[in-house]
Amino acid sequence: MPAILIDGKAIAAQIRKEIKAECDALKEKGVTPGLAVVLAGEDPASQIYVRNKERACEKTGIRSTVIRLSGQTTQLQLEEIICSLNENPEVDGILVQLPLPRGLSEAKALAKIDPAKDVDGFHARNMGALVTGASGFVPCTPKGCMELIRRAGVPVSGKEAVVIGRSTIVGKPMALLLLNENATVTLCHSKTADLKAHTKRADILVAAVGRPEMITGDMIKPGAAVIDVGINRVGDKVVGDVCFAEAGEAAGFITPVPGGVGPMTIAMLLQNTLESAGRRAQIG
Ligand code: NAD
Repeated sequence: MPAILIDGKAIAAQIRKEIKAECDALKEKGVTPGLAVVLAGEDPASQIYVRNKERACEKTGIRSTVIRLSGQTTQLQLEEIICSLNENPEVDGILVQLPLPRGLSEAKALAKIDPAKDVDGFHARNMGALVTGASGFVPCTPKGCMELIRRAGVPVSGKEAVVIGRSTIVGKPMALLLLNENATVTLCHSKTADLKAHTKRADILVAAVGRPEMITGDMIKPGAAVIDVGINRVGDKVVGDVCFAEAGEAAGFITPVPGGVGPMTIAMLLQNTLESAGRRAQIG
């Protein structure tokens, strides 16, 4: 495989180490960074994600609190809990684990989070900041992709970047982040007429679709940096949106699945929480 492997697991471990050191420094100033996670209902995948976030917090010294709510929680109850977390000075970051159980509005719940504590970066104010280039919280997965690109030394300015997938949590913010770094960006999606014509031009290709190995080797520009966000369960294996064996032959850089973008998402959540706590330390 001629491509250089971008080892997200190792990079995320290094970032967590840096976060722990900063967290220790904040604690010496009397500020313990705090993350509150609201988990409603019994979705098994959400339970696992939340447990992983709790563990990562524990290891880096961030205080995590999980507020577990039944699937019968009303919108009003959920929003009251979010408002009380907004008011709690020991909570630097608030995360509402998605998806919410049926009958609860994600949009309304997310809108209630204080944008200054919105460490997932999903509040419209933070999304708007990304569009205007103002400072704000950046959604964790695309932020993690940018960090991988940066730490791997992949040049962005003036390059052709193609993002596949236009979701609010990955594709759209990813395109904006690349644009803000002066890439020429194309955003492809399910209605794109000739996907390969676009991907073949990409110096940086980000796949965030959720279709196992849909990006084949013939769709990659030689030497491209390929960032695979996809997580797809196939039998007892987890594969990305990119056919790793084929793409690794053509690409210059490639992220594996698992062990690429995945570990970066939680690392960026910790980083956002730390950033918020840092502001508290400055004010306090
Ligand atoms: P989504 O379902 O919200 O969006 C998928 C996007 O893919 C849509 O915008 C759609 O237009 C596009 N699409 C669908 N079929 C297509 C096709 N044939 N050609 C081109 N585009 C097509 O998904 P999402 O939440 O953005 O997640 C995408 C993938 O990333 C999933 O596999 C998800 O599990 C994974 N993911 C990983 C992480 C992580 O931490 N690594 C985080 C979030 C999502």
